[in-house]
Amino acid sequence: MDMTRIRDRMVEHHVTRRGIRDQSVIGAMRMVPRENFVPPGSEEFAYEDAPLSIGEGQTISQPFIVALMLEKANLNAGDKVLEVGTGSGYASALISRIARHVYSIERHEKLALQARERFEKLGYRNIDVHVGDGSKGLAKAAPFDAIIVSAGAPKVPTALKEQLHLGGRLIIPVGGGEGQRLKRFTRTSAAAFEEEDLGGVRFVPLIGEDAWTASHPMYT
Ligand code: SAM
Repeated sequence: MDMTRIRDRMVEHHVTRRGIRDQSVIGAMRMVPRENFVPPGSEEFAYEDAPLSIGEGQTISQPFIVALMLEKANLNAGDKVLEVGTGSGYASALISRIARHVYSIERHEKLALQARERFEKLGYRNIDVHVGDGSKGLAKAAPFDAIIVSAGAPKVPTALKEQLHLGGRLIIPVGGGEGQRLKRFTRTSAAAFEEEDLGGVRFVPLIGEDAWTASHPMYT
């Protein structure tokens, strides 16, 4: 199978035709082999525009949504970025091809270890994977130019806003079930944030101290 052609087709059908224009995002999606981020045996589904199961009851997000989140984060080559919810590592891998450094935090140790192995195999050296509760951010590496949260929170965790640089962008799904919305918060001063609604989404829950509890009905 010629994965480069399949990948280019996926980018054309599910990313550019659906309105993604940011060339750095499109370039990263052409470059990162998504088939390396799905469980063995699922490679043939790697380029469908759908979430896929990655174990631990979690999913690798749909390519279009990942592209949208990265475009809306306005990533620059010099940026230091935090991703909350490493999952398979695919989104962090994309960010690492655009930005200077990625910190990625995942609550499931097994997923974090797998993602770390994938990055090593691909030679992506500008990603640090941490195991922990990303609803509290990652204070020791803050502040960030952008924070991308790949799981849905009941409300915006305070620490994530506090860990943004001035001008920094936080992309986060907020709310549960059908009412979940993708939001962008831009830090406009020490205490002020501009809030924008980017549309309806459906992410697995963000489970943590400043998020949903582990007894969330969607959590398995
Ligand atoms: N970005 C991932 C990818 O590209 O494969 C997909 C992320 S998946 C939709 C959401 C991830 O968030 C899951 O792996 C889940 O375990 C993780 N998660 C949920 N709550 C978390 C928390 N408080 N801190 C860190 N990770 C969390």
